[in-house]
Amino acid sequence: MTESQGEDNRHVPSPNFTPMQPHEHGSAYRYCPACAQRLEPRQLKTGDRKRLVCVGCGNILYLDPKVAVGTIIAMPDTRIVMVRRAIEPGYGLWVFPGGYVDRGEVVSTAAIREAREEAGINIRLDGLVSIYSYPDRPPVIIVYAATAITADLRHDDESLEIATFSESEIPWEELAFRSTREALRDYFHGVIHPHCC
Ligand SMILES: [Zn+2]
Repeated sequence: MTESQGEDNRHVPSPNFTPMQPHEHGSAYRYCPACAQRLEPRQLKTGDRKRLVCVGCGNILYLDPKVAVGTIIAMPDTRIVMVRRAIEPGYGLWVFPGGYVDRGEVVSTAAIREAREEAGINIRLDGLVSIYSYPDRPPVIIVYAATAITADLRHDDESLEIATFSESEIPWEELAFRSTREALRDYFHGVIHPHCC
């Protein structure tokens, strides 16, 4: 799915949301990062997917997944913290705080950092909800359950607003991503793996 298709989420929510940023396929990469010559898709092993190979130096560009983290944060009254996105994809739609994990950053540390940046709160991680990935989608989304240990919610400039929701108030038709929907569904079904963080 392309970035422009991601924008469609704003108008026509569907179960097939793009999970996180569409850091898409090899077609986005045209030149070798080592020598700047052209990359072309080549079949290197039978049955394997095509790889981008540099026509100049033979460098193979392996496209790795993108690791993202999201955190479902319960306030003391058990309501869940959500932010409404001010950026594409998913502009105007709701998601729990999260973002990409930096290379070398511990995933649980990224979850705590994103909660502080996007919601202005400190959290305690309670466990792993699950890990979400989809065919031909680069992001792998790791979702934690957490409890807020400070109270004042404050969103940053990546969000239009911040609010808390009880289970019955979750805006299921206005969620930003497929992983948002599936992780919330799992969370409210009581899925949690406590020995993960
Ligand atoms: Zn090259």
